[in-house]
Amino acid sequence: MKCVFLGSGSAFTVGADNFHSNVLLISDRGAKFLVDCGSDIRFSLFLEGYTYADITDIYVSHLHADHAGGLEYIGLSTKFDDRCDRPNLYLSNDLASDIWDRTLAGGMRSVAGQILDLNAFFKLHKINANGHFYWEGIQFRLIKVVHVDNGFFVIPSYGLFFEVDGVKIFMTTDAKLCEGENRCLYDAADLIFQDCETSPFPSSVHAHYSELVQLPVEIRRKMWLYHYQPGPLPDAVKDGFQGFIKRGQAFDFAQLPVTASEPA
Ligand SMILES: [Zn+2]
Ligand SMILES: [Zn+2]
Repeated sequence: MKCVFLGSGSAFTVGADNFHSNVLLISDRGAKFLVDCGSDIRFSLFLEGYTYADITDIYVSHLHADHAGGLEYIGLSTKFDDRCDRPNLYLSNDLASDIWDRTLAGGMRSVAGQILDLNAFFKLHKINANGHFYWEGIQFRLIKVVHVDNGFFVIPSYGLFFEVDGVKIFMTTDAKLCEGENRCLYDAADLIFQDCETSPFPSSVHAHYSELVQLPVEIRRKMWLYHYQPGPLPDAVKDGFQGFIKRGQAFDFAQLPVTASEPA
């Protein structure tokens, strides 16, 4: 199995050099599973040679538009294409009502003279707290991470921990660093796809490069960095990381150590 980063930028990517941090997992038999579906998806899928019709399974980590804003496009496109079945949509149980009521209903509720709900577009799979789901025989464990803490309440994101071809992978999705809480996952993983903000004005809702560079070297050397800002980047390899992931970069999990191929 391999994965392709359709984009590796932040919510505020500019132009077409990079797109939202959405990842396409492709099994050996060609099944495709989209991890996060931001509003760039229409362009980022196309540039890698895919269309909405290729997407049968989608995971959404949280409801920011760079992770869930493309669901209206995928949902409406697949609904009105006879070749397509409803895609499976996996998400944490606590997002299931908000994703419709607060995110998608405005654009999708009234279609072709009918009042519809989320089930008209997607086969919903609600995952319990600390739960997991399977895709192509691979278990994906949801990891609740702290993303936004506004002082009144915390908005989590749900990262993924999974094992493919003997490689244990932790994909943080959008997350503050929280080294203490996540240390056991960082230790257990062989490969870490790590949210990394590079803005000169840290937002406090993402792990920032200046924090990540202080992690122990044995963790840094497992980390590929993504969800970064446009503009100049620090020399991550010199600082002990694997590097910054580029748009279109692919990782083949069958090859140990996992090798990354340059974007086409
Ligand atoms: Zn994001
Ligand atoms: Zn976010």
